[in-house]
Amino acid sequence: MTESSRTSVTSHSPSGLTAVEQEITRACKEARRDRASVTLVAVSKTFAADAISPVIDAGQRAFGENRVQEAKAKWPALVQAHPGLVLHLIGPLQSNKAKDAVALFDAIHSVDRPSICEALAKEIKSQQKRPELFVQINTGEEPQKAGVAPAEADAFIAACRDTYGLQVSGLMCIPPVEQAPAPHFALCAKIAARNGLTNLSMGMSADFAVAIQMGATHVRVGSAIFGAR
Ligand SMILES: *Cc1c(COP(=O)(O)O)cnc(C)c1O
Repeated sequence: MTESSRTSVTSHSPSGLTAVEQEITRACKEARRDRASVTLVAVSKTFAADAISPVIDAGQRAFGENRVQEAKAKWPALVQAHPGLVLHLIGPLQSNKAKDAVALFDAIHSVDRPSICEALAKEIKSQQKRPELFVQINTGEEPQKAGVAPAEADAFIAACRDTYGLQVSGLMCIPPVEQAPAPHFALCAKIAARNGLTNLSMGMSADFAVAIQMGATHVRVGSAIFGAR
């Protein structure tokens, strides 16, 4: 993979990426938002480097993975070959993976409990890195899902700052699959606003246009770009 194989997003793009880009542009226009206010995080989990490379070559720079081990196996070589890539960890994080996560990722979307805050604070200090941090909110209060309960969100966000010295940049949510996403996006946006947080990681392949309408700054789109997993 060479630098010269890069092109802009507008020419020779993989069809999924082109369609998603067009839909983001349309949703931004409809919501009277600047296209630059929304970051497309291309979720490449389960896909190998040979599927990811064409998307990088088409100009996409932000990618999301949900497992630290998988990302560690496939991204360092791609990052080395393509300066300027931005990696987002979107899946649950275990404390014992915090070291690898801080080393590899530029953003972590799944901060949701004190043990993770503690592990991240330690690694951020020792590695002198500053990943962008999102607190995950379990807006549907689903027992099997990661994230902080909405009622506990304000206290948790305050503890991130005050107890652990972490700079939180925004909130992330994953609405329950069987429900309309808009009320969940609205709740996430409301909690962010009252805590002075500007970034909202919300919206996936099925609902990123709705999420943009509701204020998403980061949409995490996988299958619409890479195909079914
Ligand atoms: C897999 C995943 C996505 C992308 O889902 P698609 O439906 O493929 O777009 C987004 N967010 C998280 C947290 C994920 O795990």
